[in-house]
Amino acid sequence: MLDEAAVEQFKTSLRGELIQPDEPGYDEARKVYNGMIDKRPRMIARCADVADVISSVNFARENDVLLAIRGGGHNGAGWAIVDDGLVIDLSGMRGVRVDPQARTVRVEGGATWGDVDHATHAFGLAVPTGIISTTGVAGLTLGGGHGYLARKYGLTIDNLLEADVVLADGSLVKASEEENEDLFWAIRGGGGNFGVVTSFLFRGNPVSMVYAGPMLWEMDQAEEIMRWYREFSPQASEDLYGFFLFLVVPPAPPFPEHLHNKSMCAIVWSYAGPLEAAEEAFRPIRDEVGPAAFEFLGPMPLPVLNSLFDPLLPPGLQWYWRGDFVNELSDEAIALHVRYGSELPTPLSTIHLYPIDGAVHRVGKNDTAFSYRDVRWSAVYGGIDPDPANAERISEWTKEYWAALHPYSAGGAYVNFMMDEGQERIKATYRDNFERLVAIKNEYDPTNLFRVNQNIRPTATA
Ligand SMILES: Cc1cc2nc3c(=O)[nH]c(=O)nc-3n(C[C@H](O)[C@H](O)[C@H](O)COP(=O)(O)OP(=O)(O)OC[C@H]3O[C@@H](n4cnc5c(N)ncnc54)[C@H](O)[C@@H]3O)c2cc1C
Repeated sequence: MLDEAAVEQFKTSLRGELIQPDEPGYDEARKVYNGMIDKRPRMIARCADVADVISSVNFARENDVLLAIRGGGHNGAGWAIVDDGLVIDLSGMRGVRVDPQARTVRVEGGATWGDVDHATHAFGLAVPTGIISTTGVAGLTLGGGHGYLARKYGLTIDNLLEADVVLADGSLVKASEEENEDLFWAIRGGGGNFGVVTSFLFRGNPVSMVYAGPMLWEMDQAEEIMRWYREFSPQASEDLYGFFLFLVVPPAPPFPEHLHNKSMCAIVWSYAGPLEAAEEAFRPIRDEVGPAAFEFLGPMPLPVLNSLFDPLLPPGLQWYWRGDFVNELSDEAIALHVRYGSELPTPLSTIHLYPIDGAVHRVGKNDTAFSYRDVRWSAVYGGIDPDPANAERISEWTKEYWAALHPYSAGGAYVNFMMDEGQERIKATYRDNFERLVAIKNEYDPTNLFRVNQNIRPTATA
């Protein structure tokens, strides 16, 4: 039982709100992006500043309270929230400050990528991000971060210059190549295991407009398209990025009516080179695979591309997903993909293959905690539906699909595409970086205060 006087004292120490069960706003505050997650924390500290974060970490440690950290709340496994514990909710800390001269971007720990895109685009700059703008900067970055600019500018962590981190003992430190280098190594891929990141400093890259959008093909062409894609994508210019997917075509514009609700395969392209060269960049695609059944390509501001799919995937849907890194797409694997891709269990369910090459390969696999630098794709199999009654169906389908394709994978998965899948999966994901992560965890969080995550267990608690 928590001492009420200690709770009261904690509450008065905060500049932000402390939200407790039965208080107004509690049910809203405990919602996360994945509607399948329904947890009831003992309290939610909506931190206003770093002092609030320090107070919250100290309170959790001193009172032995289970602690979760909420950035954007998008994590599939729902690690942003916890039953009976304390949630450090950073959604009130979303400031972004761009330094156009230095080409750097300072981002608070609770910002979303939409916040960052909005601020950086005004200066013709961009930080590599994911494909949905409502995703949190913190969780995506701490896991690695891949998206449209990955082939040209690397993972999100490859653009991280420094971070402010509140450690388990309540101290605030800077992590960079010059200070606390081991911590800086660990937070680039090791997730929220080492402390609460209150601020990130990123390099801004000169990207403003892109030539982008989806191309869709009929299912009976899917095998042919996938085989072409596996050869084309790795050797394409690093300005060009295309992720492959299976989908059920949404019954809405811009898709033509005759394609509505049809199972199809697609590639969503983004060309980040000079706009005047874009048509030429797409010429080999059109020459080699012929016309698509539908395409919606054109010049657009990068923030438009980064939020193109937001309306399709609002918060509160049921999600069950699994992932794997993939080295090669064999003919057998392609045949299995086409089989499962043709039988998506619900209209929003999908399979994506995201390229992991180009600039991502130019950083060594031991240079940051993110180990799988040497693969070609990060695959995610997502069962998605608005109706909780379908939760089991989409979960079973995802597990079955994953089990069928896992033998063709490189072994581990992107931590941000994993559910609660156990220690062996975590080890498989970090490979020979795992032991170093444990050593750094031993140093910075020996009692495992930060354990609501893809947990790197310190030796004392393993
Ligand atoms: C629709 C959708 C699309 C996605 N697309 C992509 C994509 O294109 N590319 C990609 O790389 N990923 C993608 N992801 C995965 C995404 O990276 C993860 O879901 C990520 O965990 C989200 O970060 P968040 O801050 O929103 O999550 P949260 O749920 O808030 O947190 C996730 C984890 O990070 C920890 N954490 C959060 N904030 C902090 C902090 N400030 N300090 C320390 N630890 C913290 C939490 O404790 C938790 O363990 C996508 C997810 C969704 C739902």
